[in-house]
Amino acid sequence: MLSRGQSAPELASLNNEDQKPDDVSSGSPDPAAAGEQVAIQDGDKPSMAIRNLDRIFSQFLVSLLECPVCFGYMMPPIMQCSRGHLICSTCRPKLTACPVCRVTMSNIRNLAMEKVASKLVFPCKHSSCGCRINVSYTNKKDHEEDCEFRPYVCPYPDDKCVWQGPLKDIYDHLVTTHENVITMEGSDIVFLATNVNLEGALDWTMVQSCHGRHFLLSLEKIHLGEGCQQYFAACRMIGTIRDAAEFVYNIGLDANNRILRWQSKPRSIRESFVSFTNADFLVLNKSTVELFSEDGNLALNVVIRKANQSTEN
Ligand SMILES: [Zn+2]
Ligand SMILES: [Zn+2]
Ligand SMILES: [Zn+2]
Ligand SMILES: [Zn+2]
Repeated sequence: MLSRGQSAPELASLNNEDQKPDDVSSGSPDPAAAGEQVAIQDGDKPSMAIRNLDRIFSQFLVSLLECPVCFGYMMPPIMQCSRGHLICSTCRPKLTACPVCRVTMSNIRNLAMEKVASKLVFPCKHSSCGCRINVSYTNKKDHEEDCEFRPYVCPYPDDKCVWQGPLKDIYDHLVTTHENVITMEGSDIVFLATNVNLEGALDWTMVQSCHGRHFLLSLEKIHLGEGCQQYFAACRMIGTIRDAAEFVYNIGLDANNRILRWQSKPRSIRESFVSFTNADFLVLNKSTVELFSEDGNLALNVVIRKANQSTEN
């Protein structure tokens, strides 16, 4: 009984480091009773120590779910080898032997770890890019698709560029890597596309900077078959979908006694479009471009303003 009496205060201090000395002395000498008393006292407000233990334990469980091959987190279905080494379901089909013990891989699921995974929250896969959000595995995919830290692909209308990176680096990438991108400051500018009648598929791209942001203007000429060409004029924002919703842009063509006006909201470069041909941009056919071009050059007057500002401003 002496040993039980000694262990009680020790247990209480382990579970509740910031407890007052009186609380410890009033505790029962029975370790089980002492544990219960701590739980009741802290029922409404868990102590810092308990919360820390909780966090460390969750982190430990999350670390057990790191796939040894791709280092991503294993989400149900979680597979294992016959000796119990876990492997994610994406890597499993690519393996014939366990990457840890080399035993031939079988298709055994680990249901217990799947249940554990369903109770945990995992860091977003873009955490190395700055995302601090933890999500349950059921919400993980959706969050990561939408995550503002997800790398952006190069928005230059040329699918040969494989660059990816954070939003803040896109402008520098565009002006240093894509030499024919012109930059211009101001909310009301003229985007001059030269030699629009040249044969073949061509594109003109420029960055317009205003309101402290950058916008990517492009004019794309696409061949749709025998003698049929279309031009797509687009204004996309180098920003998130939420940022882009705050702006409105106008494209004006004014030449040879003709006027054409287009107004829309810029799309974010985050929104992928399969091609210009099915996107929401100003579409001009060859004869319209001919009517508005002077000496083979087409001048597009682009005005970008905040969505809540009136047109008069
Ligand atoms: Zn894996
Ligand atoms: Zn194994
Ligand atoms: Zn995220
Ligand atoms: Zn690029």
